[in-house]
Amino acid sequence: MTTPVAQSTAQSTAKTIVQIKSAPPQHWVGNGFKVHGMFNYNDNAALFSPFLLMDYGAPTQFAPNMGQPNGVGSHPHRGFETVTIAYTGEVTHRDSAGGGGTIAAGDVQWMTAGAGIVHNEFHSPAFSQQGGLMHMVQLWVNLPAKDKMTPAHYQAISKAQIAQVDSDAGSVRLIAGDLDGHKGAAETYTPMRLWDVRVKAGQTMSLSQPDGWTTLLLVQSGTVQVNGSNTVGAAQLVVLSRKGSDVSISASSDAQVLLLAGEPINEPVVGYGPFVMNTKAEIQQAFFDFDSGKFGEI
Ligand code: MN
Repeated sequence: MTTPVAQSTAQSTAKTIVQIKSAPPQHWVGNGFKVHGMFNYNDNAALFSPFLLMDYGAPTQFAPNMGQPNGVGSHPHRGFETVTIAYTGEVTHRDSAGGGGTIAAGDVQWMTAGAGIVHNEFHSPAFSQQGGLMHMVQLWVNLPAKDKMTPAHYQAISKAQIAQVDSDAGSVRLIAGDLDGHKGAAETYTPMRLWDVRVKAGQTMSLSQPDGWTTLLLVQSGTVQVNGSNTVGAAQLVVLSRKGSDVSISASSDAQVLLLAGEPINEPVVGYGPFVMNTKAEIQQAFFDFDSGKFGEI
């Protein structure tokens, strides 16, 4: 028998690949957003926590539309946050708290639904009339129980407010979470990172994430290997282990990757439609409050 040799530090702290998930067929959200449901808390809430859901709007061409812009009409949310990232195309929104605006290419809207909000989401009038490519992500981020009933508000984060960290290997835009002394743009309720990562062909980028955190990578274009995995391509999601910290992304062609990492929220998740709470009674209360007009109107 031979004595096992201790692994090098670099190897022993690498996160391992839990799953490489291909995009399911697209479905329409309203008549404006054709998305792949990459993951959903109904499938495995613990695996993805603190993230609840990801709709990936892979690049989709829209013809010019001189009529009413396409999108999703008024609907409520309670108990979590919606994060909308526009890569190309524009989304115009209005809400019951008096907010509204346009999420243009490069911008992010971080909306805390909290105790409740009603909003709508449409192609911007300009985008709708010109037509073009819509490429976006909408993420649902859970709130800890103590913050689920916080008053609704949102952070309108413009492209210019998002710090970009450049290196020889590529670049990282910090939507949330700090990197190398640069501050992430969004304020979050629990510790997390949301980074828009570009890796150049032939380069490897190392982006360590805390041991114990959920870590997910959505490949949007190009092909990569993650910690020596098989090749991962467009519209695939890599789920990494909580254990370990090293994450290295090697690109065989220019790649765009959305990195999500966060401290899990170890609380029960009970959701129905647009509400995500901790108990069934809280869901019933959400329907009651919405039906009795407590969420307000646009
Ligand atoms: Mn919504």
